[in-house]
Amino acid sequence: MANAKNSPLTDEVFTRAPYWKDVPDEKWMDWRWQMSHRLNSVQDLSVIINLTDSERKALSAQGLFRVDITPYFASLMDADDPSCPVRKQIIPTAREMVSFESMMEDSLAEDKHSPVPGLVHRYPDRVLMLVTTQCASYCRYCTRSRIVGDPTQTFSRSEFDAQIEYIEQTPQIRDVLLSGGDPMVLAPKLLDMILSRLHAIPHVEIVRIGSRVPVFLPMRIDERFCEMVSKYHPLWINIHVNSPKEVTPELAAAADRLTRAGVPLGNQSVLLAGVNDSVRIQRKLVHELVKIRVRPYYLYQCDLVEGAGHFRTSISKGIEIMEGLRGHTSGYAVPTYVVDAPGGGGKIPLQPNYILSQGVDKVVLRNFEGFVTTYSEPRDYDADEIKTQEALIEPRPETGQDGIYGLLDGRRMFIEPQGFADVHARGGAEHRLRSGEQAQKWQPLGIGALEGDKLADGEEEKRQALADGEEKVGE
Ligand code: SF4
Repeated sequence: MANAKNSPLTDEVFTRAPYWKDVPDEKWMDWRWQMSHRLNSVQDLSVIINLTDSERKALSAQGLFRVDITPYFASLMDADDPSCPVRKQIIPTAREMVSFESMMEDSLAEDKHSPVPGLVHRYPDRVLMLVTTQCASYCRYCTRSRIVGDPTQTFSRSEFDAQIEYIEQTPQIRDVLLSGGDPMVLAPKLLDMILSRLHAIPHVEIVRIGSRVPVFLPMRIDERFCEMVSKYHPLWINIHVNSPKEVTPELAAAADRLTRAGVPLGNQSVLLAGVNDSVRIQRKLVHELVKIRVRPYYLYQCDLVEGAGHFRTSISKGIEIMEGLRGHTSGYAVPTYVVDAPGGGGKIPLQPNYILSQGVDKVVLRNFEGFVTTYSEPRDYDADEIKTQEALIEPRPETGQDGIYGLLDGRRMFIEPQGFADVHARGGAEHRLRSGEQAQKWQPLGIGALEGDKLADGEEEKRQALADGEEKVGE
């Protein structure tokens, strides 16, 4: 295979299994031809690779997640080695039929957090818009295998309308992520229509697309496609590469076309046992990515999704990988390792602990080599100095989602689990010491409302008294 750095970044064919050697180049580089010649059965695949018994069994089983592989991507598989990282991602094995503790159909509770079908509004200022259930090829560990691959689950025109209407009517949304399935397999006109409608919404500042098409079907990223997306900047694309084997000259050329069209590229990979759960492999992967101008963005812990049990690693392995990346290579090449919270809490970033200890004005830190140092904190730091400038920027509402930052910001003093007050009332009747009239005694002074919020009765006076007291001390 040619070195991507020296490749001419044209439509030249580098990656093709011998089985397709007689297919004319124009056909091979036609994404429609690739889509209509995908492989999905024992019969199709046994002429390309030597299938194991486990692979044959899974390919013949009913009810497993859909199989479909583009000839281009199938050409990356090792025909004789079932441990090939590309093969493991797309060819099912009997291990998919093994259930495991905590496994779920919708492990991120996405459908539960959808105000309209296919639109997940989990974070304060952004939404995930599922626009199709179809992909160019299907990954065995897919988080959305409950709907992906099933054409009967795909979204209708009226559902797109409902998704877009929700975004139009929700001004707090500034960022829309298109996903699926894979938005880049949509009919070009349909994707164009969705992007143009989102682009027309004044409060939508950026649109992102999550896609594995540049990896499964790089020929889809043609001039017309790039011209179309360049109408809708700022548009960002995250691709999905898990193994250095997937970084081919064809992917390099597709990434080059997209970046020339002004699209910043990131990569999301999933930590997969037997595919990329190795510091050495992850280093190689991130280096190959930055060479083609793709910034490693997320490394996901594998979700608790049905069929993916055998791909899961321990979280300790993820931490070890981050230990082996941070400091050992450029910061640009280091992704954020995240667990997408089972039950729907969103992404939780994890990394090794670099803070060893803290005192009143000192923080003891360690670096990747184990060098231990001390950062002396300023004793005269004035965190209020910035307030005048800060006041020039309108705060963004995060209704009900100000979280831990809300504690630091003085919006609230504690976060209680649901039902906390009832549990602690122990079923007793309301009495003179805990009646509604007593509520003021649990209101911490100065906490609970910021500029623009309504203060509780009497709070304004208490704050004024507090401020007067502080001034006096200051004098
Ligand atoms: S490309 Fe994405 S949505 Fe499609 S099967 Fe793979 S992980 Fe799932």
